[in-house]
Amino acid sequence: MNIHEYQAKELLAKFGIAIPKGVAALTVEEAVKATESLPGPLYVVKSQIHAGGRGKGKFKELPADAKGGVRLAKSVDEVRDHATEMLGNTLVTIQTGDAGKQVNRLYVTDGVDIAKEYYLSMLVDRKTGRIAMIVSTEGGMDIEEVAHSTPEKITTIVIDPAQGFMPHHGRAVAFALKLSGDLNKQAAKLAASLYEAFVSLDCAMLEINPLVESKDGQLLVLDTKMSFDSNALFRHPEVMALRDETEEDAAEVEASKYDLAYIKLDGNIGCMVNGAGLAMATMDIIKLNGAFPANFLDVGGGATTEKVTAAFKIILSDPAVKGILVNIFGGIMKCDIIAAGIVAAAKEVNLSVPLVVRLEGTNVQLGKDILANSGLPIVPANDLGDAAQKIVAQVNNAA
Ligand code: ADP
Ligand code: MG
Repeated sequence: MNIHEYQAKELLAKFGIAIPKGVAALTVEEAVKATESLPGPLYVVKSQIHAGGRGKGKFKELPADAKGGVRLAKSVDEVRDHATEMLGNTLVTIQTGDAGKQVNRLYVTDGVDIAKEYYLSMLVDRKTGRIAMIVSTEGGMDIEEVAHSTPEKITTIVIDPAQGFMPHHGRAVAFALKLSGDLNKQAAKLAASLYEAFVSLDCAMLEINPLVESKDGQLLVLDTKMSFDSNALFRHPEVMALRDETEEDAAEVEASKYDLAYIKLDGNIGCMVNGAGLAMATMDIIKLNGAFPANFLDVGGGATTEKVTAAFKIILSDPAVKGILVNIFGGIMKCDIIAAGIVAAAKEVNLSVPLVVRLEGTNVQLGKDILANSGLPIVPANDLGDAAQKIVAQVNNAA
């Protein structure tokens, strides 16, 4: 789960991390009011969307030479103008895809006189099973380019969670950032606090870009992205309360209501499968037959009519889907019940794309009979390979 920049900053501030003052705003009036509570004379108006690259982003509705999603302002009037232009409009950044994201909230924050921009991020490194802190002296809006062309300018410091964060980790961070004197001490302390925040909040990823040195010698967090391990969210109701469903994929939100594990992918064959392992195998075999799955979807053990109907609707809400492959193993749930569910659901959603169904397990013959007698153009398949060949052929014929 991801959260907004202003929310992440509020969480980090609780760990004693230095953050410039700022206030979130949902309307132009709130943005103006927020400005009046800040010291000035420089303000920054920042689009709050779950995507980075806002500074260099472009608003769809504005002329190409209009400013991006992070804007400096020198007066309350300028803040008002920026807020008016940004709110309700669609920001397209390198991370949003072409569709962009609608800006529904802003963060008005204190403008910092920047001496230098640094980069610092943390993630759970699955290869080492440890927490990695990644730092660079080349922070700011071009970090992707730095990683690509000058990877030697990026240093990774690995922390063993069993040992915890040690003073030498802090010194290594400060050294990699080439900081001396008081800034060196600030960096070591900041790294320790970030580690504490990361672990105690069960973060999956925490990125600070830029981390800045201000002209008056303070190390400040200017931008932050934070995401959480969803399996640990039950331990953090205060974090769960920060969820903004309007930022998430609508189909994935809908799927979570029915307890369906759904992830949208780029292909055109919708998959409805029970069990994650079978779902993975189904996706593999579709690819083996030269096509691509449009989604991962695990309906779980109890594939009820209600769940199957919801799953059909979610799969079909993706305009890229040109055919559906249902591959269900009837174990606890018997094949005839599943078949009845598929028929009822297909009728309810007025299924308009080819449907191939492979059933296996208890009462399989009963299930197949129900599909055959349904009056619907359902193509039965005998095994996984047969099912994949049939759906790929159906989709190719229709194209
Ligand atoms: P994004 O990474 O989505 O583009 P950032 O918050 O990193 O958004 O903002 C982009 C750039 O805007 C930063 O690299 C920094 O130079 C500038 N900036 C952001 N916040 C402030 C601030 N509070 N004061 C001064 N400059 C800022
Ligand atoms: Mg940034």
